[in-house]
Amino acid sequence: MGQAGILRQVALKNLRDMTYQEMLADVNALGEKPYRASQVYSWVFHRGATDISEMTDVSKTLRSKLSGIFYIGGVNVENVRTSSDGTIKFLSRLEDGLTIESVLIPEAGRLTLCVSTQAGCAMGCVFCLTGSGGLDRNLTMAEMAGQVFAAKLLIKPDERITNAVLMGMGEPLANYDNVSRFLSTLVDPAGFGLSHNKVTVSTAGLVPGIRRLGQETKVNLAVSLNAVDDATRERIMPINRRWPIEALMRAMREFCAHGKRHVTIEYVLLKNVNDSPREAMQLAALLKGLPCKVNLIPFNEFDSSRFQSATPERVSLFHKILMDAGQAVFVRSSKGVDILAACGQLRGEKSVL
Ligand code: SF4
Repeated sequence: MGQAGILRQVALKNLRDMTYQEMLADVNALGEKPYRASQVYSWVFHRGATDISEMTDVSKTLRSKLSGIFYIGGVNVENVRTSSDGTIKFLSRLEDGLTIESVLIPEAGRLTLCVSTQAGCAMGCVFCLTGSGGLDRNLTMAEMAGQVFAAKLLIKPDERITNAVLMGMGEPLANYDNVSRFLSTLVDPAGFGLSHNKVTVSTAGLVPGIRRLGQETKVNLAVSLNAVDDATRERIMPINRRWPIEALMRAMREFCAHGKRHVTIEYVLLKNVNDSPREAMQLAALLKGLPCKVNLIPFNEFDSSRFQSATPERVSLFHKILMDAGQAVFVRSSKGVDILAACGQLRGEKSVL
């Protein structure tokens, strides 16, 4: 886009950055009937229009009015890599030049899009490549929606995205307002049309955000727990200093109390850090009574990492102890490891592609 184009867009509002309610207010302000807002909203999110001129059932006069106020902006996919297991990682450039990554994960009967919610991340989890570069900024709703549209262009015509996980770059609950607006469109039948139970927000443990998500939405929650005592968790996840395990557990119980919900507990197994049989038993005790399932994730090692993955024997033993304790527990096979697309490996830099 030329400089003139950029300057024009600075003055215009991106329609992909607006919820239905926000569009309705703007369309009302133009003196138009409410159904016009539904038409525009459907063109933007359901039909994926990339330009206002495509809205052929909207009168020419209104299209011209809209063009003076709005534009439709997306993310610009610059690089795509496909793993031997079918996982697709793509890097997108944002309007201000920053880059983010997203991942499409095909599994039996479903196709999951892993969406980034921030450029970088401020949480500083020490085992995570994404967090090692710090936070650049929050993503807008349009930049999250842009990842969905970009992903749709990468899949075959007979495929569709069935699930979305907000588990890419960033801490979604640290960007709560934009994430919540994006979620409203993700689950709106007139928007992206995913059902609530196919959408999961993952967090490192931001307690106030978990409470709000429980009260304000019906989507699923995944919590990256990764340790059973505060000392270990603080060492690998600095967020634990602010919200220790007890506060986090309380927030998860409250979340589950809103309707018939359960939480997914993510537990990255790091060799000699959090993978002992004693810790497996402590985890079973900690989770007792919480409606949850546990995903055990053998750590995905990367070059600069100072951690190693737990051995397969330790992973099996950890799994068995939890299972014997009656816990729903799964060992997650990492997807896209050969293209650095696995959990905690997204970096948003072209050099990693
Ligand atoms: S694990 Fe998640 S929250 Fe922690 S630094 Fe990485 S991206 Fe951020």
